[in-house]
Formats: sequence, C-alpha cells, structure tokens
Amino acid sequence: MILTPEEVASDLRLEADVAIIGSGAGGGPLARELASEGHRVVVIEEGGYFTRRDFNLRPSEAYMRMYRDAGQTVTLGMPFILLPLGKTVGGTTTVNSGTALRMHRPVLKKWQLAHGLREITEGELDLIYAHLEEYLFVKRADPEVAGKVARTFLAGAERLGLSCGWLPRNAKECEGFGSCVFGCPSGSKQSVDVSFIPDAVAFGADIYTRCRAERILLREGRAVGVSASFLDPVSGRPNGRRLEVGAKVVVLSAGAVSSPFLLLRQGLANSSGQVGKNLQIHPAVQTVALFDEVLGPPRGIPQACYVDEFQGEGIMLEGGTVPPEVHALALPFAGRRHASLMEKYPNMGIFGGMVSESDSRGRVVDLRRAGGRPAMLYNLRGRDVEKAKAAVVLMAEIWFAAGARRVFTPIAGHYELCGPRDLRRLERSRVRASDFYGMSAYHPLGTCRMGGDPEWSVVRHTGETWDVENLFICDGSILPSSPGVNPQLTIMAMAMRIAGFVDEKLSA
Ligand SMILES: Cc1cc2nc3c(=O)[nH]c(=O)nc-3n(C[C@H](O)[C@H](O)[C@H](O)COP(=O)(O)OP(=O)(O)OC[C@H]3O[C@@H](n4cnc5c(N)ncnc54)[C@H](O)[C@@H]3O)c2cc1C
Repeated sequence: MILTPEEVASDLRLEADVAIIGSGAGGGPLARELASEGHRVVVIEEGGYFTRRDFNLRPSEAYMRMYRDAGQTVTLGMPFILLPLGKTVGGTTTVNSGTALRMHRPVLKKWQLAHGLREITEGELDLIYAHLEEYLFVKRADPEVAGKVARTFLAGAERLGLSCGWLPRNAKECEGFGSCVFGCPSGSKQSVDVSFIPDAVAFGADIYTRCRAERILLREGRAVGVSASFLDPVSGRPNGRRLEVGAKVVVLSAGAVSSPFLLLRQGLANSSGQVGKNLQIHPAVQTVALFDEVLGPPRGIPQACYVDEFQGEGIMLEGGTVPPEVHALALPFAGRRHASLMEKYPNMGIFGGMVSESDSRGRVVDLRRAGGRPAMLYNLRGRDVEKAKAAVVLMAEIWFAAGARRVFTPIAGHYELCGPRDLRRLERSRVRASDFYGMSAYHPLGTCRMGGDPEWSVVRHTGETWDVENLFICDGSILPSSPGVNPQLTIMAMAMRIAGFVDEKLSA
C-alpha cells in the first residue's frame, strides 16, 4: 500500500525484513526486487505521492510539491551551482528527463582498478542493463516527437562530422509534452513511481509517504530499524506522530545528499572519514541560439539527442526542446533585454553540456548552525573549468553550423556571440570558474563511495557498509565517480546487484 500521514492516526511500530529509506532510483528497484522475493518491505519516503492527474504542466507547482527546497538547492562555492533534488515517491526519477544510458565503459575499468571493484564486471552489468532496458521500455527518442530544436542541432553536429544521435529514453509512447522535469502528464516516462513502486506494492511492500527518516536504530553495533516522523503536508514539519520500523536489514537510499547527511548526524559508518566527501555533480552549462526561422512550437522532448564526440575527454552534450520557463533561466540577461529575447522564444533553441570531473570534488556537511540541514560545498577547479568552456565553444560551433544568427553563452564577457569571430575570441580567452553564469548540475554522486578498501570507502561492492552490519546503502552516493553519462540506469543496476546480496543475507 502507499500510505499518507492522514491515514495514520497514532504513533506506529512495525516489523519488517527490510526498511528502505527513500524511493528513488536506488530505493525503488530494491523494494521491488526484495518484495518479489517474498520479503516484508517497508519504504519510508519524505516526499508526497503524485500521479499523472497531478502533473498539470505548471512548473511553479511542480517545484513546490516535488522538489526539495522548491528546486532551489544550490552548492556553496565558486560558482554557485543550482543542484535540484527530487522529493517525492519515485525520487528524482519522477522529475527527471528520462535519458537512460549505460555507463561509459572506461569508467568501469577505473572503478575496477582504482577503487578495487573487480567484482563488478562488464558481463554482469550488461545483463542487468539489458533487463532494465526491457522493463523500462527504453528506446531511442523519436525524431518526429523530439521537436525541431533537436533536429536542427543534430544537423549542425552532422555538418561538422561529429559523433551524435538520438538518446535512449525510458519512455513508452512519448507524446512530447516537454515537461518531463515537472512529472510526465501522459504517463509515458517509466520513472520509478510508475514502474518499480507499483510493482513493489503489488508484491506486498508498504510505502509510507511524507515520512522523514531521522535515525537508524542500532543494537550491539548492528542496524535493527529506523525511526521516522510523519510530516504535515502544508508546512513539511513533523505532525507529532512517529513511525518506528524494526528490520533485519536497513537500506539507506535517500540520495547522495541526504544519505551522507543522515550518517554524519549520527556519526555512523564513517571510520574511513569518507562519508560526505568525494561529491561529484557532473556540472552542466547551457547555450541558447537565435535563428531567423521558427523552431517552435514549444512541444518536444527536452533531452532528445546527444553529441558524444568528446565523451572520452569528459564532455557530453544533450538537449532538445524545453518549455519557456526553463528556457528563460538560461539567458544571461535581465530586464528589458531578457524580455525582448523571450519574445523570440519560438526562434530559439537551447542545448546543454555536462562535464565529468577531473579535478573538482565537493563535500556534504551537516550545517548545524542553520537548523541542522545538509549543505553542499563545491568548487569548480582546474581542468573542469577548461572542459566547461570547451563544451560551450563546441555547442556554439554546432549552433553556427546549424545556421544560428546569434549564440548566447553563460561566460562573462562572451554572453552574445554574433559569429565565428566572436567564437574565436572566446576560444582564446582565459576563463575562470567565477565567469560562469547560471551553472547547474543534476547528478550528485560519490558521497558514500563503494570500494574494496575500508580505509577509502564507505560500502563494499555488496552495498553493505564496512562498519555497521546489516546497514546497506543503495543510491547515487555509492557510485565512486560519475559514470560519464546520466546516472539513473547505473544506480538502478547497482540496486539490482545489491538486492541479490540483501536477499542472500535475509535468506541466510
Ligand atoms: C531535473 C533533473 C533531470 C534529470 N534527468 C536525468 C536523466 O534524464 N537521466 C538520468 O539518468 N538521470 C537524470 N537525473 C538524475 C537522476 O534522476 C538521479 O541521479 C537519480 O534519481 C538519483 O537516484 P537516488 O536513488 O540516488 O536518489 P533519488 O532518486 O533522489 O531518491 C532519493 C529519495 O529519498 C528521499 N529522502 C531523502 N531523505 C529522506 C529521509 N530522511 N527520509 C525519507 N526519505 C528521504 C527523497 O525524498 C527522494 O525521494 C536528473 C536529475 C534532475 C534533478
């Protein structure tokens, strides 16, 4: 069952085989797998439960209801980077763009060699990815539904001879509403809320929504349960009623910000000192292009196609048609200039570039002085600044090859490029982290990393923490680094692996 606080009249004490904190890309698949094996599964989810009837295409409502801090979570450092996090049943997958890519293969080699994860093999992952792709109806974006922005950008990339194509997506019959990040109104995106969670419930799992896990309960050094508070739907504050779940295994799947935060609060599983550290976010930059011709209507797929020519160097471009509310944020202007450009929205396209980090690492800390909240400290450094600039230059190059009249970049001193001469000037210039306007990131990872050495990692390859028996972690925080692409499929693949180890433990 999916339960809300209104259905719970008093404090509740339950017994389960597994208590899972969080119902996103890690927690959802794990809940389904374990429930299907006949285990009694209880999921505790801080966010509310929304269905396609609630997905009304209004961005402001979606941010308020389904995102942590109304979508305004930022990293502190140079530059400030917007890092939105989902807070709803299905986790961030409910509000993500639906790109479903397998990890970049050389990254797995690095995990095996540098992080001691030899047990995770290419063969095993391939089998799991294939299963997930079938289960989630993954297929390439349909160029007709994708919209003209994507087709125009791809034409530019092809003109330059770059490796590019249509992105694989976990969307069944996408109708191109363009609002994946506000919840899919047609129900075609196979996010965790419409795939793994309903299946988990059908197998007998219970999902307690608007319920915030606060402590992991321990006995003789082992995890034995979770204590949580039900939340008021309006204020988001505890409503006075509590939930305590006694469990043989506890799994932390609260995401790469909340999972380390919960551990840091309790001083748990941190003999390595690595909890909260090694934060990677896969930072993203955007460019906007103005054309003489109309590229609208504003329907299409926001993340429809890619250019992976420089994936080996850590640069991946992805984009498509985004709604005006999202488009407006990418223009590096204010006031009248911004308004007059937005009037030309039908003639504009937007594209994004993501950077796999070489030199930048951040940290999740417990900001006790700010009322006990997690904060993300992160500075963009060294080669990653260069890569972000290279991604902007590459996108501008492609836009001009596609026939753009102007390209707007997020780099101070180069906000408007009128042609190749301006582009060459940008290429020659020295760019600092502080020069980037409106940088964003969508893939926080690495803060409870998995590894073969308890001195340098928080969990084993099985997902179990080195320090606390029966406490597992299963979400983006365990990935030792960015998989080089959008991570949801890899987080789900790790969840499928970890489900096997939890099942073994419970069966023993
Ligand atoms: C706008 C956007 C677009 C994206 N697009 C893509 C894409 O196209 N493809 C892709 O691969 N990735 C995409 N991502 C990233 C992807 O969705 C995430 O990497 C992935 O969902 C992370 O999985 P997770 O299990 O670590 O955390 P989440 O999916 O975020 O799940 C964590 C859950 O835990 C809950 N939680 C946290 N703390 C507590 C607590 N104390 N008690 C109870 N519950 C708690 C949260 O409410 C949340 O629901 C996107 C992200 C964003 C923000």
